[in-house]
Amino acid sequence: PPAEPLLSVNGIEVIYNHVILVLKGVSLTVPRGGITALLGANGAGKTTTLRAISNLLQGERGEVTKGNIEYKGEKVERLTPADLVKRGVVQVMEGRHCFAHLTVEENLLTGAYTRSLSRADQAGALERVYTYFPRLKTRRASQAGYTSGGEQQMTAIGRALMADPDMILLDEPSMGLAPQVVDEIFQIVRDLNQRESVSFLLAEQNTNIALRYADYGYILENGRVMMDGAAASLTANEDVKEFYLGIG
Ligand code: ATP
Repeated sequence: PPAEPLLSVNGIEVIYNHVILVLKGVSLTVPRGGITALLGANGAGKTTTLRAISNLLQGERGEVTKGNIEYKGEKVERLTPADLVKRGVVQVMEGRHCFAHLTVEENLLTGAYTRSLSRADQAGALERVYTYFPRLKTRRASQAGYTSGGEQQMTAIGRALMADPDMILLDEPSMGLAPQVVDEIFQIVRDLNQRESVSFLLAEQNTNIALRYADYGYILENGRVMMDGAAASLTANEDVKEFYLGIG
C-alpha cells in the first residue's frame, strides 16, 4: 500500500464573510519528502488553501465549512497556527512579511519563538539557515527592509526553517523577483527538500518554474482542482501548455 501522506486535504469548502464561497471542495495530498505545487491563476484559491491548512483563515473572516485536513494522520482544523508550528507545519506568507526594522538575523530568530532554544542551540539553528542561505550571513546585521526582494524572500524561508519544520507552505515565492533570483530560491528549496527532508507545498502562479522543481502539481481553477498529476505529465499536457505555460 502507498505510504500515508504527510498531509491530506479532504474536500474542503471555504467561505469568507459567511457568504463568499471560495473553495468548492478541494482535495489534495502532500507526500512525505515531496515538493508539491499548487498552481492556478490569480484568485483561483491557492492562498486560501494554504491559509486553511495553517489555520490562518480566521483573521481573514474565513472558515472551513466542509471537509477536513489531516496531518500525520491527525485532524488539525481545530489547532491554532502556533500549535501547527510546534507540530512542524510552517507557512511562509505571500509578500514575504519580514519585520522591516529588525535585522535579518533578528528576523530569523523570531522563527524559533515556539522552540525556546538555549543560546547554543539558537546559534546552531542560525548556522543551519546560513548554510543554505550564505547570502543572509553576509547580510545578517542589515535591516531587513533595506535588503533586496530576493534576500527578503530568503529571510522569510530562513525564518520558517528556524522552527525546524517537517513541512513548509510557501506562498508565491517567485512574486516580484527576477528570474535568476527565482531560480536561486527554488534551488535552495530543492536542497532543503533533499538534504533536510522538508516537504513543501508551494503555491505559484509561475507554472513554468514550479513544475521544474515540483514532483507533483494540482491546478486550481475557480476554487476547484481541475487537474493534477506528476510534474512531467502536467508539463507535457496540451491544455496546461496552452493555458499555463504560455508555450502552446
Ligand atoms: P493570489 O495569487 O491572488 O493569491 P489565489 O489563487 O491565492 O490568488 P486567493 O487569494 O485564495 O487566490 O483568493 C481566492 C478568492 O477569494 C478570490 O476571489 C479573492 O478575491 C477571494 N478572497 C480572498 N481573501 C478574501 C477575504 N479575506 N475576504 C473575501 N474574499 C476573499
